[in-house]
Amino acid sequence: MSQCFIMQPATEDILLKVTNVCAICYGDIEVGDPIYYDTQKYHYVCQHCQELECQTMNDQCEIVEDEEGGLFC
Ligand SMILES: [Zn+2]
Repeated sequence: MSQCFIMQPATEDILLKVTNVCAICYGDIEVGDPIYYDTQKYHYVCQHCQELECQTMNDQCEIVEDEEGGLFC
């Protein structure tokens, strides 16, 4: 679990006032689902997308592109 995301259960309040879909995959979010607030992009994502996003981030929550064989080949 990374510090880049704040996990919280989806409340009716969030679903009504902020979003009721994941910001990445647009999957429906139901009350009580675990959702993750992305502190870098300021939106909510589902658990699945949070896990995928975390795999591309370093400890500073920066997106790390795979540059092997890129610039210096
Ligand atoms: Zn998602």
